[in-house]
Amino acid sequence: MKEKRAVLPGEEVAVVEEFIPGEGTYEENGKILSALFGELELDLDEKIASVVAKNPPVTLKIGDAVFAEVTDVRNSMAICEIIAVEGEERNVTGDTSATIHISKVSSAYTQEVGRELRPSDVVRAKVLQVKPSVQLSTVGPHLGVVLALCKRCRAPLKKKNKALYCATCDRTENRKTSDDYGEVKF
Ligand SMILES: [Zn+2]
Repeated sequence: MKEKRAVLPGEEVAVVEEFIPGEGTYEENGKILSALFGELELDLDEKIASVVAKNPPVTLKIGDAVFAEVTDVRNSMAICEIIAVEGEERNVTGDTSATIHISKVSSAYTQEVGRELRPSDVVRAKVLQVKPSVQLSTVGPHLGVVLALCKRCRAPLKKKNKALYCATCDRTENRKTSDDYGEVKF
């Protein structure tokens, strides 16, 4: 027989007189504590207490660096879909659609959003606002496009001088790139 419930890290889940500390737990002063956010399993036959990790989704916070794919470009903004919070493998919870206003694309004056960001580009952006809508910024050297595809042949563009270049088509495109364009692994 097994008894299950959700537990928090550090939460007391059993005592050593009654249970053996199993996976996802640790022992402290005769108590068994959960090491994880997860689901406690008390195996009543084997007398083992263990906790299985839950992988709770990430909630966006102001200041987070995120990766997002540009899905549409309008006159005054780019519309994006957030893929992940940088450094987190967990999924993002809630609303993943976001916008980058024309004034938040670059520290230089942006005449047209479409000259700096294009649909299907992947950008690293900073979260400026979470509610009522997610607003992102690509202002700053480490923010901006990290991966862009050639408009004509869809091959990944390579950084060449200050522009992006497609060797197949022998043409360049302009973007507001991040300082590590082309080096980000997903
Ligand atoms: Zn091309």
